[in-house]
Amino acid sequence: AKNCGKNNAKLYSSSLTMQIMSHVKLEVGLRRALQNNELYLLYQPQIDVPSGQIVGVEALVRWRHPERGIISPTEFIPLAEETGLIVPIGEWVLRTACAQARNWADMGTQPVRMAVNLSAKQFKDDNLTQIVLSALQETGLAPGLLELELTEGTLMDDARATMFTLEQLRGIGVYLSIDDFGTGYSSMNYLKRFDVRALKIDKSFISGLPQDSENAAITRAIIAMAHGLKMAVVAEGVETDEQLVMLEHYGCDLAQGYYLGHPSPPESVTLMLGNQYAL
Ligand code: C2E
Ligand code: CA
Ligand code: CA
Ligand code: CA
Repeated sequence: AKNCGKNNAKLYSSSLTMQIMSHVKLEVGLRRALQNNELYLLYQPQIDVPSGQIVGVEALVRWRHPERGIISPTEFIPLAEETGLIVPIGEWVLRTACAQARNWADMGTQPVRMAVNLSAKQFKDDNLTQIVLSALQETGLAPGLLELELTEGTLMDDARATMFTLEQLRGIGVYLSIDDFGTGYSSMNYLKRFDVRALKIDKSFISGLPQDSENAAITRAIIAMAHGLKMAVVAEGVETDEQLVMLEHYGCDLAQGYYLGHPSPPESVTLMLGNQYAL
């Protein structure tokens, strides 16, 4: 039995070493990913519920690792935040997404807003507004066509600094929304203090619909509150027609999810927009 314990300890420590090594390897790789062009963006459509038209897209980053294949942002974004690499990566995401949005604006279809995720580290970076401004200037994208998605955690961190940054972003004229709404601290206070234009209901509330009556109640309450505050509501993670019908019934403004379109390469979105325009 003693031997067995020893072996377990050995096994454990060697697998821990392996974990640390693969973590370090991933970090070294991530440092090179930007300069080696290994990152790319997919765009997921956001649908106006009453009309069914695509009125926005969310940019979602992917990493094409030379050995490991495609790595999900849920794996490398936390690492990028830990190491501070999120700042240059986020800047690349912003520029690339703005350039793409400008291309779509030039197609002359109905306007498509580009939503970009901002992590807390990026939001705290002193150069954020400068980075946003230059991405807009270099691409010529109208500020109102850029949406920045912030989480509740980001907004709660440090009220005074948060207010200052939000004021600056508002001055630029970008559209601000709160991502994963309902999963964070959810202090309702900041909703009236900050000039946020939309709430994105987290997909964990949508996934049980239409059967789950508690999630249905929460979804309805979020929509009612948002509308009372003159904010728009986006439902995330819409996977079925029943969910869409229910959300329409509740007066939800926008919807996003696999039922309406997967995160897709830009060419596919261009085709969808072209088809929509032809109708
Ligand atoms: P998120 O911002 O909440 O993005 C929505 C996630 O839900 C995406 O996962 C999307 O692919 C997924 N999704 C969309 N429709 C459905 C659906 O119908 N059902 C389900 N189950 N999932 C759906 P993804 O692309 O893996 O991104 C994961 C997270 O990584 C994002 O969550 C976001 O927090 C982060 N992320 C992605 N791209 C960026 C980025 O450029 N910058 C930063 N800072 N974070 C990013
Ligand atoms: Ca998001
Ligand atoms: Ca989300
Ligand atoms: Ca989420």
